[in-house]
Amino acid sequence: MDGRTLKQREYEGLRPGHYACPGCGMAIAMRLVLKALGSPAVVVSIPGCNAIIGNTYPYSAFNVPAFHSAFEIAAPTAAGIARGLEIRGQGDIPVVAFAGDGGTFDIGLQSLSGAADRNENILYVCLDNEAYMNTGIQSSSATPPFAWTMTTPSGRTGRKKRIMEIILAHRIPYAATASIAFPEDLMRKVIRARNIKGMRFIYILTPCPTGWRTPEDATLRLSLLAVHCKVLPILEIVEGRIRLNMMPKNIPVSEYLKAQGRYRHLKEEEMEAIQREVDEDWNRLLKLTEESPKGQSLS
Ligand code: SF4
Repeated sequence: MDGRTLKQREYEGLRPGHYACPGCGMAIAMRLVLKALGSPAVVVSIPGCNAIIGNTYPYSAFNVPAFHSAFEIAAPTAAGIARGLEIRGQGDIPVVAFAGDGGTFDIGLQSLSGAADRNENILYVCLDNEAYMNTGIQSSSATPPFAWTMTTPSGRTGRKKRIMEIILAHRIPYAATASIAFPEDLMRKVIRARNIKGMRFIYILTPCPTGWRTPEDATLRLSLLAVHCKVLPILEIVEGRIRLNMMPKNIPVSEYLKAQGRYRHLKEEEMEAIQREVDEDWNRLLKLTEESPKGQSLS
């Protein structure tokens, strides 16, 4: 798949015995990222499920050095470590920051923007489970419209923040979206990001059986549906140039929504409103892709 040896492919950066709920999409994403990144590497985690999964004191499921930082500073913490490694002549060791939607879309947005602006030499991976799950399922600005959470019991009224457009505006060297339903694409992107210097950002949608009210064995099917219902466009952005990596099958978004208990209360007209928004966002993305500067190949 990527020219790595069998030993490298068998490597696991997230060990068994971690603290994820059964069927957790985030644990699968973290495993794939660390597997692609290999060793040596350094992990930064912040409050959120990513930290619970990998770094529950005094234990650690990470197979590499891991640093637990504060909620709002995943990016600058990783940047500080990367700069320290550079000074020690170990600047080729990748530093990855794991942060959830709370730590990325909300609480850590300012420091993420600062790190992107300074083009810090880090890989930032946003693991979006679309709410503050580990504190009891509270809404974030990544929670989609009409989704139930403990703080939006009748369904969220706001819209999901377009984090990739915010990242696009920073013109960092590399950004991408990925799905655990397409592990080879996800790992290819991590390997590509590892080999680029400067700020890199990868967004992964990570279904959460606990907060999405879904069966443990539905995680990969939901991940696949998110792509083919156009909820999660799979793309790469290199220096401001956008490229779609796969075309969805255009499955109605209702199939994705009906599979999740957090949308159990939805009326037909609300599903139609979500479909309209998904279509609008998709058309807007196509327009952005067409308008995106051409030139250097992204392949
Ligand atoms: S609450 Fe959700 S994201 Fe957190 S560990 Fe459990 S399944 Fe994973």
